[in-house]
Amino acid sequence: MIPASFSYHKANSVQEALGMLQQHGGDAKLLAGGHSLIPAMKLRLNQPSTLIDIRHIAELQTISVAGDHVVIGAGVTHHQIATNAHIHAHAPILAEAAEWIGDVQVRNMGTLGGSLAHADPAADWPAVMIASHASIEMQSASGSRTVGADDFFLGFFETALQEDEIITAIKIPVAGAHTGSAYKKFMQPASRYAIVGCAVVLTHENGKCTAASIGMTGVSEFAYREKAIEDALVGKELTPENIKHAASLAAKDVTLMSDHFASVPYRKHLASVYAERALVAAAGL
Ligand SMILES: Cc1cc2nc3c(=O)[nH]c(=O)nc-3n(C[C@H](O)[C@H](O)[C@H](O)COP(=O)(O)OP(=O)(O)OC[C@H]3O[C@@H](n4cnc5c(N)ncnc54)[C@H](O)[C@@H]3O)c2cc1C
Repeated sequence: MIPASFSYHKANSVQEALGMLQQHGGDAKLLAGGHSLIPAMKLRLNQPSTLIDIRHIAELQTISVAGDHVVIGAGVTHHQIATNAHIHAHAPILAEAAEWIGDVQVRNMGTLGGSLAHADPAADWPAVMIASHASIEMQSASGSRTVGADDFFLGFFETALQEDEIITAIKIPVAGAHTGSAYKKFMQPASRYAIVGCAVVLTHENGKCTAASIGMTGVSEFAYREKAIEDALVGKELTPENIKHAASLAAKDVTLMSDHFASVPYRKHLASVYAERALVAAAGL
């Protein structure tokens, strides 16, 4: 459980970290909360020759509201998200989900940017980002770009992030009027990672669903949008029967994972159950 040796560099700004990434090339890894990277290094699944510590970069640690978006620095911790007033007011699903991540130590150290970059198939944030229509801002020495959450998660621990890029911020549209949201997960009892996690953002008027955005994690090799459920709900009355029918379509278009926590049929069942629970809560039923 001892990592291979590495050199350590502390960056004080994004520019400095980008310079270090360029200098040390593909062998270097950014270190944020260290709660995914350090365990992987201890298991020698990851053996970077250089760690660039971005944890102390102040510009990555702010939460603000800019126009109709909440802007969260990549270095903001799960705990800060769970307790921030802007997030509670304008993107409450993030505060709700953050409460369910790991334990106190994990929430105090782990960061939103680190979780998105790591893209664990059982992580909570990817589903919440998809449901919230988040966009992920990345910077490299040659410029910056923004990728929507739908296009960010590409595969098993695979994202659109390039080796020379740093996630700098995550932008979440401010929740509008008549919007309800919920995140429900069936968790691994020790780590609290999601065996199945479903994030829902619903807009409804006079009991009818006018928009639905649903992200699922833990089910397949990477988080995805539950398009079939969304399509089944939009334009329909948000009744328990309509919700049950829509939720029964969960995981119908993906290849499900199977492991010692949940077989394929059990995971599929859980996906419907947790989609229904999240939809009921988001609809306020
Ligand atoms: C016991 C335990 C329980 C956990 N339970 C849960 C859980 O219930 N739900 C859940 O979702 N997660 C869980 N986690 C994971 C936790 O949320 C991690 O903190 C998170 O996945 C990684 O964030 P980090 O800041 O620690 O990143 P690090 O471990 O520092 O980095 C992870 C990866 O992201 C890269 N990276 C970090 N920041 C950036 C950036 N800004 N730009 C580009 N690349 C970057 C690193 O180079 C590295 O490759 C758990 C972890 C542990 C140890």
